Amino acid sequence: MSMQTYLSIDNVVKKFDQFTALNDISLNIKQGEFVCFLGPSGCGKTTLLRAIAGLELPTSGTIIQDNKDITFLPPEQRDFGIVFQSYALFPNLTVAENISFALREQGHSKQEVSKQLEKWLGIIDLPDSGSKYPSQLSGGQQQRVALARALVLSPGLLLLDEPLSALDAKVRTHLRSEIRRIQTELGITTIMVTHDQEEALSMADRIVVMNHGVIEQVGTPQAIYKQPASEFVARFVGSMNFIPPHHALLTDKDLPFGGKVVALRPEDILLESSKLASADNNAVVSACEFLGPIVRISCKIDDGLNLTVDMASDAFLREAIEVGSRVSLSFCKTKLQTFEAEAA
Ligand code: ATP
Repeated sequence: MSMQTYLSIDNVVKKFDQFTALNDISLNIKQGEFVCFLGPSGCGKTTLLRAIAGLELPTSGTIIQDNKDITFLPPEQRDFGIVFQSYALFPNLTVAENISFALREQGHSKQEVSKQLEKWLGIIDLPDSGSKYPSQLSGGQQQRVALARALVLSPGLLLLDEPLSALDAKVRTHLRSEIRRIQTELGITTIMVTHDQEEALSMADRIVVMNHGVIEQVGTPQAIYKQPASEFVARFVGSMNFIPPHHALLTDKDLPFGGKVVALRPEDILLESSKLASADNNAVVSACEFLGPIVRISCKIDDGLNLTVDMASDAFLREAIEVGSRVSLSFCKTKLQTFEAEAA
């Protein structure tokens, strides 16, 4: 992947009357990169995507795409393709007509149009569906057609606004890898908005975590998960236990007491049935959630603190853990993470 910046967002502010939806957003996106905007409802991720598309104009700040200031350009003068959550295909046009619509509008020859059509029907793996109407396709197939339609003019930038959230789980996972495959093959710079952390972690080169109109952290999926920059990111991405700072579990002198909030991932806690264990962190199992390869176990430590622990299903079954079991919990102190406490 080249290191060249393709899209540069500088100090972008967007206000709706008194309300600040984007508060001084700055971000550089590299050529060919797949970036996810991730955050809870209302954090501003769609507004930022819409500002990049020209569907919303910033109150201040600049957006540079491919060395060109596009901040106030109307959408039709920008160079992007977009896919929305709702399929937004023309219902009265066939798949072939939907995909080739923009090519025909631009006056490409019949020969060129059919060449492109064949290519795109192949890329989205619907080679025989050109003559079907959108209503004859599944949701996942319609989104693949929407993707082809967005890409047929070879834009420099692909914008995806929650493209998978209307689909059921199985189709969604399949389309994740399909989108990633097509994006990598084309090498097209891509921004996807999602509120689904798993989707962002599995698809993105870099994730931009947003909250209340500001960027909380920008990083690779691994960095966001392993080294969350704030309590918000730690809470929003993955599961996290929070331990009160003066809790007995944290008496060791070596604990990283720099921050005021101490956190520990469920998979970083070792749970042993108390028959086997030597550690003295005694706890009782209060709930077990079977998730396939792992079991997520809620434990109550004797002093009342609740901790969530992830345990491999095989070990869970072997040790015959159940609600009410007495267990021993331990962890390696290097797994503890500390954060500044957030203002309430
Ligand atoms: P969601 O996942 O729910 O779409 P989001 O993170 O994409 O959330 P935005 O749609 O960007 O959030 O909205 C950010 C904030 O700006 C919200 O509080 C929203 O109510 C507000 N907002 C968005 N568009 C407008 C508008 N046209 N007029 C007034 N307020 C708006």
